[in-house]
Parts: sequence; structure tokens; C-alpha cells
Amino acid sequence: MTQTLEKASRGRNPADLFETGSALRTQPEGFHARAAAVAPERHPVVVIGGGQAGLSVGYHLKRRGIAHVILDGAARIGDVWRNRWDSLRLFTPAKFGGLDGLRFPAHGDHFPTKDEMADYLERYAAYHALPVRTATRVERLHRADGLFRVETSAGRFAAPQVVVAAASYQKPRLPDCAQDFGPEVMQLHSRDYRNPEQIGDGPVLLIGAGNSGAEIAMDLAPGHEVWLAGREVGHIPFDIAGFMGRKLLVRLVTRGLFHRVLTMRTPIGRRFRARMHGRGMPLIRTRPGQLARAGVRRIGRITGVRDSRAIAEDGAEVTPATVIWCTGYHPGFDWIDLPVLDAEGEPRHRFGRATDIDGLYFAGLHFQYAVSSAMVGGVGRDAKRVARWIAAAQPRS
Ligand SMILES: Cc1cc2nc3c(=O)[nH]c(=O)nc-3n(C[C@H](O)[C@H](O)[C@H](O)COP(=O)(O)OP(=O)(O)OC[C@H]3O[C@@H](n4cnc5c(N)ncnc54)[C@H](O)[C@@H]3O)c2cc1C
Repeated sequence: MTQTLEKASRGRNPADLFETGSALRTQPEGFHARAAAVAPERHPVVVIGGGQAGLSVGYHLKRRGIAHVILDGAARIGDVWRNRWDSLRLFTPAKFGGLDGLRFPAHGDHFPTKDEMADYLERYAAYHALPVRTATRVERLHRADGLFRVETSAGRFAAPQVVVAAASYQKPRLPDCAQDFGPEVMQLHSRDYRNPEQIGDGPVLLIGAGNSGAEIAMDLAPGHEVWLAGREVGHIPFDIAGFMGRKLLVRLVTRGLFHRVLTMRTPIGRRFRARMHGRGMPLIRTRPGQLARAGVRRIGRITGVRDSRAIAEDGAEVTPATVIWCTGYHPGFDWIDLPVLDAEGEPRHRFGRATDIDGLYFAGLHFQYAVSSAMVGGVGRDAKRVARWIAAAQPRS
């Protein structure tokens, strides 16, 4: 495995390493010409993305009797979770880890593994008979003759209303200094990290000290020399898996703080959103003391790279054999060919309704309405609101 990955990453332009979904986009020659000749499939609503956000929207549309289709580029529902690192467990226990209309099938205090979550999503779609088309990657969303046009790897669709439920985390974010590491340094993004066996000998530098950075550091610490670089993002001051955590405090944080308090309707929520811009969430599972006890060495933000040596703002220097970028994601909405994105590629919207384009909605965006908008237990509220707007805009028969 190490060799395969090393071969894939050493010596290549780092920007090439982080292109998304290229394998899924591959189609036989002539496919697009044939697809273009066929009239688009028309639906009252097209939902783009069949992760928790898209499935949630599908559920609420179905409850209202609104016909729709859900398009997803992945081969299988839940693949986003399946492809995350092996040891990942959700920080939200099963009792807050289900979507509307089907509880998570485990004891309420159980923290699901990423594969359990993936299987749950697949079961959810089957249980509610949601019309999901997998292996259908949207390559362009635009408008013509009063309808949205959705060009995909598996044909064309048209609809008067579209929901983009593809999350704000599609394209790995990578600072310019990634180019300054020599080809002898293996580089990968946290999206492509799977397990410690994938990582060769020598110091590992994790850049970005949010939840992914901290959890991957803990995963690697037993067998590797691990350095974690980045600003302190703060942490939740209790053990989520401890007795009080499971019985009371996780509820206060996820259902209270993240869902009810830190919303776009509260001044504290709006301040928190502004402060979070470009920063990680506070650490939820891992605490700084645990990192120190595991032998993870903390250094400040990396400000530059010289001769493959990373230099931190606090003066620390590390010459890594491997760099894992835990620097988050760009929204990755470059396939949206509509005047709805701001200079940073983020949609302009209010609570999920596009500000300037009628009939276009979003679900699952980072802080769409509240911190919980991008979480399993919180996305349903936004999905329900989007379904209500769509119902109100449906022509009356
Ligand atoms: C490491 C990690 C751990 C997390 N842990 C938790 C947790 O414990 N609890 C919690 O509540 N939340 C957690 N989250 C946050 C959130 O729940 C997940 O990111 C979740 O996967 C978001 O679901 P989604 O449906 O919005 O987006 P995604 O799961 O990313 O699904 C989007 C779907 O859209 C599809 N798609 C994207 N672009 C296109 C396109 N152009 N055409 C067609 N299909 C497309 C993708 O194939 C995918 O299936 C975590 C996030 C990360 C990154």
C-alpha cells in the first residue's frame, strides 16, 4: 500500500494529487456526444448529492408528495464515509446520528464507525425508497429556456427547481507552500489518509490542527514520530465518551449549542460563524493533554518551506518524510455555471435559498443555518425548510 501511494504521490505536482472524482468522471469515447443528442430527462426537482443532506431533502420532498431524482457521482450511497480513514468514529453518538424518519440502529450511546454510518445511509435510502441514481456525476449546472439544465456523466436532466446537496467539502484546500517540498517528501491530504500502514518511516508532519489533524495524529502516534502544526482551535472541555459526556454533555453541545444557540438568528451564532471562517472547529474528541501524552509534538502554523524543511511561526523547524495536509476543503462548486457563487466560491444564499436565483437551493452547507447544518443530526431541519419552499413554489394542479 505504502509503495502504491508513494508512487502515486512522489514527484507529482501537489495540485494534481488533490483533484476530485476524476475516476468517476471517466466515460467511454463518444459518450458525451451521444448524451447531448438525447433530450434531457425532466423532473419537477433534481437533488444533486446523495449523502446525508441529499437523502434528507429527498425524504422531506417525498413526505410532501413531490417527485424528484437524487443524483450522486459515487458508485455507492455512503461512499464519502466509507472512504474516510479506517479508525474514524463519529463524534455524535447514535442517538443524535440518525436522519428524520429512521433512527440509527444502535444503542443510543454508541459512537458509530464510519462504515456503520455509510451502511446506515444506504439503508435509509432503501427504507424510504428514495430515487437515487449513483455513478451520475454532475459536471455542469446551468439554466436555459426557463429550466435548470444538469449535465452529468450519465445523461442530461432538466428541472424547474434544483437542490445542491453536495456539501461544502468537495475539493481539498492546499496552501501554496505545498509546492516547496521536494519530491522525496510524500504528501497527501487528510481525505486520502486511511491508516498508519500507508505511511512510510520518518517524521510525519500534520499541517492543520483541527479535528482531522488531531485525530490522525492520535492514529499515527503509536508507530510514528508525529508533529502537529497549526493554531490552537480550542477544545470541548470534557470527554465525550465518559459517563457525563454520553449522558448529558454531548446533548448540551450537539442539540443545544450547535443546533439551537449557534445559529444565524442569534448574535453569538453570527459572531461564531465569522470567527470560524477559514478556521477549524474546536476539538471535539481529542484534547491537548491526550496529544501530549501520546507523544505528538505541537508546533505553530507553518509559514514557509525551505529545502523541504517546514518552518513554523514559533521558530520550530521539521524535515518531514511525510506531510499530511489537514487544511480543510474548498466548496468545489466550480461545476455550477450560474451567478450564485461569491469570490471565494461559496454560494450566496439565505438559510439555503439562493439569494439571486429562483428555484435554486442548497442543503448541508457549512453553517447554512447553524453549526449543526453540516452534521447528521442537524441537516434535517434545513432539508425540511428547503422542501417547504419547493412545495410552495410548485405549480398547483
Ligand atoms: C472527518 C470527518 C468527520 C466527521 N464526523 C462527523 C460526526 O461525527 N458527526 C456529524 O454529525 N458530522 C460529522 N462530519 C460532518 C458531516 O456530517 C460529514 O461531512 C457528512 O459527510 C456531510 O454530509 P453531506 O451529505 O452534506 O455531504 P457528503 O457526505 O460529502 O455527500 C455529498 C455527496 O454529494 C456527491 N457529490 C458531490 N459532488 C457531486 C457532483 N458534482 N455530482 C454528483 N454528486 C456529487 C458526493 O458523491 C457525495 O455522495 C464529519 C466530517 C468529516 C470530514
